[in-house]
Amino acid sequence: MQLLIKNGCILTSSGEFTGDILVEGEKIAAIGSNLQITADRVIDASGMYVLPGGVDQHTHYAGLNTDGVTLSAGYETSYGALIGGTTTLVEFAANEPGMGIIESLDYRKNVRAKGKVSPDFAMHALCTNIRPDLCDEIEKLPEYGVSTLKLFMAYKPTALYTDDGVLFKAMRAAAKVGVTMYVHAENADLLNLLRDEEFEQGHTEPCYHYQTRPPFVEAEAVQRAIILAKAAKCPLCVVHVTCKEAAEIIREERLRGAPVVGETCTHYLVLDQKRMDDPDFMVASRYVCSPALRTQEHRDYLWRALAKGDLDIVASDHSGIPLTQKIWGKDDFRKIPNGCPGTGDRLQMLWTYGVETGKITRQRLVEIFSEIPAKMNGIFPRKGILQVGSDADIVLYDPRYRGICTLETNPSGVEYNLFEGMEQIGRVETVLLRGNVVVENNKYVGVPGYGQFIPGKAYGMAYDLL
Ligand code: MN
Ligand code: MN
Repeated sequence: MQLLIKNGCILTSSGEFTGDILVEGEKIAAIGSNLQITADRVIDASGMYVLPGGVDQHTHYAGLNTDGVTLSAGYETSYGALIGGTTTLVEFAANEPGMGIIESLDYRKNVRAKGKVSPDFAMHALCTNIRPDLCDEIEKLPEYGVSTLKLFMAYKPTALYTDDGVLFKAMRAAAKVGVTMYVHAENADLLNLLRDEEFEQGHTEPCYHYQTRPPFVEAEAVQRAIILAKAAKCPLCVVHVTCKEAAEIIREERLRGAPVVGETCTHYLVLDQKRMDDPDFMVASRYVCSPALRTQEHRDYLWRALAKGDLDIVASDHSGIPLTQKIWGKDDFRKIPNGCPGTGDRLQMLWTYGVETGKITRQRLVEIFSEIPAKMNGIFPRKGILQVGSDADIVLYDPRYRGICTLETNPSGVEYNLFEGMEQIGRVETVLLRGNVVVENNKYVGVPGYGQFIPGKAYGMAYDLL
């Protein structure tokens, strides 16, 4: 089966040109101007941009709470990512109760996700209840096709929390075998102090979530993680950077040669913390995620950092928590489950609020949406680039579309879309996943559960910074 995409404006991280892409089976077979080939099917991409399918390196489908209870919408809702132009997820495989790291990865791949994931997916190991003896398992991750490991510096005293000693030990183990460490960086003790102080004064509403997670709490942990990573010679990805203070530390440390890469998320770029001031709990609680949403000043800084290369990745931190669970925190903001859906929204939001406003170029969009996350997770150049031999994961984006983001157009897997009501410029028209048309006219037309596990190679991009 041959498929030819004609006359699109092909976007790469280094340039753009009007041309054609020939797809044979699951792979890109040729790219060029005016290819003279008779294919089985031709897709006219005139007036559209053609870019590599997105790699969302931070998603939590069927996420677990600290008791091992499923907290967020499952893989059967993952087709929403494809409608938003994301063809590869990197999923967190949290330790299952009573299982080790490798066993949990197996369980996620072969039980929880089996036959249900619609995009392709790679995995991060996510260690909860981590004990020093589990660090031995870290060295086996690359054989298993997992090149990254995530630990939490926050959420003390739950199973998610990792103390600095274990974090350092895990970094040393990871560095030995080319695994990149990912951290959720917030100072756990400061958070507990600030949150409890407010609650004891009778302050229970969602707005206290952001008021008790100020930027310095994040920045302190980012600095500490980088110092530990440098000492352990372990490349590091700081996930969900939200504020100027944390991004500045990453910039300065990189200038001094630290092997650190910073990720931010769509919602930190386009949503204000004031959303949590809404008097309706069922609205305000949707925006509760950690670290918290910030002010315009921070958003401006994050966009500049992305444009300059001080931050390199935009992910979604997708977690589809239904309102029936958000309500657990009705009388205590500390009990609102943390997390926001958004794996289907990255491209339209980056396009509308980044490219169309001139904050980032289309070339930089390709890097932060697709190419760099693929490199970080060891799945490049199979994923993250339009080139001969790569998987034919291809997005056609129509920049002429004007609309408003709705749950219907951008399904999130739960009862709300975080960006509902916001203006949207352009939309995904067509998506190919490994050569198969899975989105047409912005509608999902694929086979649910078609996604494959994509093994990640060790020594991902962050090792180049060592
Ligand atoms: Mn996190
Ligand atoms: Mn997360």
